[in-house]
Amino acid sequence: MSEKNIKGKVYLVGAGPGDPGLLTLRGKYLLQRAEVVFYDYLVNKKLLKHVPDTAELIYVGKKGGGLHAYTQEGINQMLAEYGTSGKRVVRLKGGDPFIFGRGAEEIQELVKEGVDFEVVPGVTSATAAATYAGIPITHRGYTTSVAFVTGHEATGKQESTVAWDKLATGAGTIVVYMGIKNLPIITSKLMEHGRAPETPVAVVRWASTPNQRSVVGTLATITDVVREAGIAPPALVIVGEVVNLRDTVDWFEKRPLFGKRMVVTRTREQASELVSLLEENGADCLEYSTIHIEPVDDYSLLDNAMQNMSSYDWILFTSLNAITYFFKRLEATSQDSRILAGCCIGAVGRATADELLKHGIRADLIPEKFTGAGLAESLLADDMSEKHVLLPRAEKAMETLPEMLEDAGAAVTVAPIYRNVPPQGRKDELREELVDGNIELVTFTSSSTVTNFLTMIDAANEQELHQLLDGVKIAAIGPVTAETVRKNGLTVDIQPDNYTIPDMVAAIMDYYRPDAT
Ligand code: SAH
Repeated sequence: MSEKNIKGKVYLVGAGPGDPGLLTLRGKYLLQRAEVVFYDYLVNKKLLKHVPDTAELIYVGKKGGGLHAYTQEGINQMLAEYGTSGKRVVRLKGGDPFIFGRGAEEIQELVKEGVDFEVVPGVTSATAAATYAGIPITHRGYTTSVAFVTGHEATGKQESTVAWDKLATGAGTIVVYMGIKNLPIITSKLMEHGRAPETPVAVVRWASTPNQRSVVGTLATITDVVREAGIAPPALVIVGEVVNLRDTVDWFEKRPLFGKRMVVTRTREQASELVSLLEENGADCLEYSTIHIEPVDDYSLLDNAMQNMSSYDWILFTSLNAITYFFKRLEATSQDSRILAGCCIGAVGRATADELLKHGIRADLIPEKFTGAGLAESLLADDMSEKHVLLPRAEKAMETLPEMLEDAGAAVTVAPIYRNVPPQGRKDELREELVDGNIELVTFTSSSTVTNFLTMIDAANEQELHQLLDGVKIAAIGPVTAETVRKNGLTVDIQPDNYTIPDMVAAIMDYYRPDAT
């Protein structure tokens, strides 16, 4: 294809205010198909997970007042260049591209260069900040109008293009973007032009993110309140009687785990349930995939067993990964689940049993205690002597289950089908978070997450380990994991009665309940 025939396009996409859930479906669709993505400071980096690995990512942030990496003209030109080179370019902009976002300036340049474009609106930070701070931006009983204003231009001089004199009493709710630096001027102008000094005002920083902070005052007091609280940009100023409704409507900051940074140590493949349950309740999760799961080199033991499935009385699944790798191997060897027809099936817990159901298999046995020992105890309620048991599992795992069964006379085939390896990378980031004291809680969902976490933080000695983890709470999913924590000289603060992810999250919430004793 000649270059002339390839036509690029630039998509200006509103990234929303911060919460990655507030991206539009259209925005997500475009990110998933992008070849180049330009993003800036206010865009939540979590959104970049939608972008294909092959895409080029270009940071063009103009971090508040500091040194500008790129000028607006530079960005405009780069967009046009990439657009004319035939690429699908997404220009991701905080909030909405056309609300104090200079989106139109970028488009003017694209038009000049003959580049096709499309604009996708986003949730602007004003509505998000108000909503996430529990302030309905309009309310029949309070105000029928709202104005969005930039505070950037409010200087002591007379030339401001914002008609503060008319706004002061002309708009019910006034939301000021970029207004922190000039807050003293803005508030005095509003009062000077007739807005009552006792008018309530809220200031919301990093709205809709786990770092959200909001303070409330009045036109007369808010400057001092903001200074004392140390609130810096990015923040929005919301002026108007609706601020009073916050007492009733506030919800985001009231979520039980709000503002608590938690480390989730789990395999990348399995982290999502734990992370989404914690985040749902307000926690700020840092995901570290301390385990990386790999296939083993040699499947001959499993292959042999699969050939002779009819000679087995039981097959036991003690982890989600065992199920995944068992069925992968079944498929790779051109077989299917019918080979399990004559066999009883045991699952270590509810999650494993549910995973089996996804493959059309209903477990015959789920123990009351979701551990290897629990599974062995349940099996031993029947006579296991002479019984043939297949245990496809991790290369390294606890021997309790096979040993208990063998002691009872069973013949157990342990077939290693996957292994856990600690991944490299992001070590330094984790250490830094710990050194800075930013971590509230670390969660462990298996013994190997504990050992791999400790390998990752790489403390020189026990003293340093205790220093790093000083004040950090530890949650362990069950007794085996908890034991591993203790063996490493650490204390378990939270442990659920049932060894499931939802129960662990419930135990964490219980721990942080304000009235918990
Ligand atoms: N186009 C953006 C606004 C860009 S101007 C939008 O539609 O939201 C930058 C200003 O937006 C910041 O100075 C701040 O006042 C506000 N802002 C953006 N994101 C914010 C957030 N998450 N919390 C509070 N204010 C935010």
